[in-house]
Amino acid sequence: MDKTKQGDFFDDYENHDSALNINEGVDQPPTINPYLGNVLKNKPVQLTIDQYMEGILAGDTTILSKAITLVESHLPQHRAIANEIIARCQAESSKHATMRIGITGVPGAGKSTFIEAFGSYLTSEGHKLAVLAIDPSSEKSKGSILGDKTRMETLCNDPKAFIRPSPSAGSLGGVARKTRETILLCEAAGYDVVFIETVGVGQSETAVHSMSDFFLLLMISGAGDDLQGIKRGIMEMSDLITINKADGHNKERANMTRALYANALHLFPPTESGWVPTAVTSSAVTKEGLPEILKLIEDYFKLVRENGYYVKKRREQASYWMYESINESLRNTFYENEVVEKLLPDYEKAVLDGELDSFAAATELMEKFNRSLKV
Ligand code: GDP
Repeated sequence: MDKTKQGDFFDDYENHDSALNINEGVDQPPTINPYLGNVLKNKPVQLTIDQYMEGILAGDTTILSKAITLVESHLPQHRAIANEIIARCQAESSKHATMRIGITGVPGAGKSTFIEAFGSYLTSEGHKLAVLAIDPSSEKSKGSILGDKTRMETLCNDPKAFIRPSPSAGSLGGVARKTRETILLCEAAGYDVVFIETVGVGQSETAVHSMSDFFLLLMISGAGDDLQGIKRGIMEMSDLITINKADGHNKERANMTRALYANALHLFPPTESGWVPTAVTSSAVTKEGLPEILKLIEDYFKLVRENGYYVKKRREQASYWMYESINESLRNTFYENEVVEKLLPDYEKAVLDGELDSFAAATELMEKFNRSLKV
């Protein structure tokens, strides 16, 4: 370009550090985006919400994992981004007819082995599978039994499967809420089947039930209900019971146990879904029973999609989770309040020492909390 024709404009800028200066020449720019390296190495590079969404919708598991980490984070600045991602994923996931399957059973019932075998069968049938977990023990032990990296090796290496261990911090309600939000992210990323695994020994089955369409209970033969720690209520919420490890010497016993459970299921009142829960046998070793289980699950989804229960249940669950989120948020607001944080240990000590009645302590603390909100 002829410099003289640029006149004052060029002169003004010539001596400044301006993009209009003509450099002697620059190095060949890298052909790979240098920032990508950081993303791949999992460095804490903050992506924009659009970048997160783009990655999730493209099924990029690195970005999906990062987004889930945001959902699990306790930092308020992460929460704000996470909420936006969740809202966008919710809109996306509701376009797909996905299958959320809760899986429970006592430790040792063979859940991980079953999920590995059944999950691989599902992906071989063309499904994309996300495996999530709610593990109530993870908070106390920090080393989560459901987060063990050595579990599910085949599925871990299956490009059509995505495995995420249980979020570890927080109350069961908080952990469950995060898992529920993670379901939405996985569905938006194209996973049409989501397993939500839990250990059948406590409250967490109810949480899993409140976020799944179908509930599968794994049992083993040779142990009574009490021994297996399964409460009647959990049997009652099950859509299918499988007597697992039905192989070798155990096969015959498993069949007998199956008949017992099938009879027991008949005694329960009819389900709202119109589905008649049944009992089958399965083995992760011989793979027997797995195709039948998938067939039953497909039958269930066909039924509830036709009779409207699929949508009805999901709406009820959405409403349940609205209240759960409110409760969780109220609880956090209370416990994270400066006044409460300062006073709580003294009140607790006074109650422990018998100097103050628990209801009086709670009332006083609530009053102080309410007053702190007004100033
Ligand atoms: P989880 O605690 O419910 O997750 O149970 P695991 O999947 O860890 O299984 C507990 C034990 O049962 C392991 O030693 C497995 O090898 C064994 N197991 C699991 N599934 C089967 C099965 O289908 N048949 C047999 N024979 N053993 C199994």
